[in-house]
Amino acid sequence: MIRNLVIDCHADTLLKKYFAETITLLLGGKKQEFHVSKDLLIQGGVDVQVFAIFVPPKLEKIGPEVTLEMISIAKEMEQDGFTLIKSRPDLTKLEERINNNVGMILSLEGTVALERNLRLLQTFYELGIRIIGLSWSRKNLFCEGTGLTQNVEDSEGLSVFGRELLEQMESLGIVVDISHLNQKGVADVAKMTTKPFIASHSNAQQICSVNRNLTDDQLMEIASADSVVGINFYPRFLIQKDPETATINNVIQHIKYISDLIGVKHVGIGSDFDGIGITPKGLENASKIKNIPPLLTEEGFSKQDVAKIMGGNFRRVFDKVWK
Ligand SMILES: [Zn+2]
Repeated sequence: MIRNLVIDCHADTLLKKYFAETITLLLGGKKQEFHVSKDLLIQGGVDVQVFAIFVPPKLEKIGPEVTLEMISIAKEMEQDGFTLIKSRPDLTKLEERINNNVGMILSLEGTVALERNLRLLQTFYELGIRIIGLSWSRKNLFCEGTGLTQNVEDSEGLSVFGRELLEQMESLGIVVDISHLNQKGVADVAKMTTKPFIASHSNAQQICSVNRNLTDDQLMEIASADSVVGINFYPRFLIQKDPETATINNVIQHIKYISDLIGVKHVGIGSDFDGIGITPKGLENASKIKNIPPLLTEEGFSKQDVAKIMGGNFRRVFDKVWK
């Protein structure tokens, strides 16, 4: 049976797995709990999970090595019923439900692993990287991230190296992710790229005013590039006051706001699961993602619109950018 793919565009599960053995030791042998696993994704009706590869600041000097280890962890997950998705035909196969596997897409969250040698881009592509977030919160060779308190005026856009990176990504067919990128960087991406891009895990600044969220102007730029924003479940990016009281309804509120402002074609889901310490009520782990569609229907979204939000929109970007 063919059905619309449900896609969550951001989870930090690989980072958690990378540290799992150490943390289990620190917890005195108590196993760490994950927000995302194959079973939880199936329970939640999620067909494709984007797994980010994030190099923590303390490990930046060995960025390429950490990246390779996380890719290796992902490859091991293929034994547990995950299928690595690298192309449009891979997505089509998944849609046809040949087996009960869950698709996984690999992304880089930040570009520290490429800083000393951009030549590695081709190798990472061959290993399966299909999305790259240009920055994380700090400044790197290519661009600047949006630190949580950074002053917009003092920051810079893409460097010459950033422009080169963007060009190479476009010719390989890698999706550009602007979550964590500063305002000038986002403006540069919107100006330079000829393809749609994504903000894999970012919300609306008008509802929750933190720098990590997107301004209305940025949302407009996203819409004019036919791009897509994945709503982040992190309570501190959902509501400003008393984030610990955040619920699934706050996620719906961001979806509604963005789709009212720029159209339903430009919204998706980017949970940030396994990278967030607290979760909203009703979205405690990946199995709860199935609670989103009924609430969207209640809000008046049509069946087709719900399918777009739950994955169809990200699918459209992958189809346009990937080979
Ligand atoms: Zn992030």
